[in-house]
Amino acid sequence: MMAGSHVALGAAAWMLAAPHFGQDALRPLGLGLAVAGALLPDVDHPKSWAGRRLRPVSTVVAAVFGHRGVTHSLLALVGCWAALRYGTGVPRAWAAPVVVGYLSHLLADLLTPGGLRLAWPLRGTWALPLCRSGSPFEPLVVALVLSVAAWSALPDPPDPRAALQRVGLRLERGAEPLPRPPPAPPPAPPARQNWAAQRAPGRGG
Ligand SMILES: [Zn+2]
Repeated sequence: MMAGSHVALGAAAWMLAAPHFGQDALRPLGLGLAVAGALLPDVDHPKSWAGRRLRPVSTVVAAVFGHRGVTHSLLALVGCWAALRYGTGVPRAWAAPVVVGYLSHLLADLLTPGGLRLAWPLRGTWALPLCRSGSPFEPLVVALVLSVAAWSALPDPPDPRAALQRVGLRLERGAEPLPRPPPAPPPAPPARQNWAAQRAPGRGG
């Protein structure tokens, strides 16, 4: 996926995950770290957003491992957590958004036809090809995920049923029964009988 999509999906993933880590979903520090984590796996591509900024490193990683190699694997995800927590001693509150953002990148790339070697160094590519990178469908997927995450991050999300009721729509399960139709009128007598009844007295007189 494109760098902008990874930025949005990294932020969305942290909005959904932050409450499980006891953190505020809309705190700028957490969102910023999640976005950084979401851009990190593409350090294996010298022309990516992260690769251009970390060029000596990205050129070496690309030459040794190739794009969507080790940095796009579960091993790298675990390594990222271990390096942050036990290598550099970063507090859990900072490491969590980076790793969640990193995970969001892997899940997003998994949706592209290229797929990922999640079990690197083992062979085998995993993919759920729903969205081609750079296709018009990509911003729609990103917008949908971001909307769901932002809605869930609101402290007091409004009830959609109230808005629907204002425009005359109801979402209650038990629908009101339809009114019974009015009884049918009695059938009219045949026209020929009436004519015979009117002519009969005239003949006698
Ligand atoms: Zn990637």
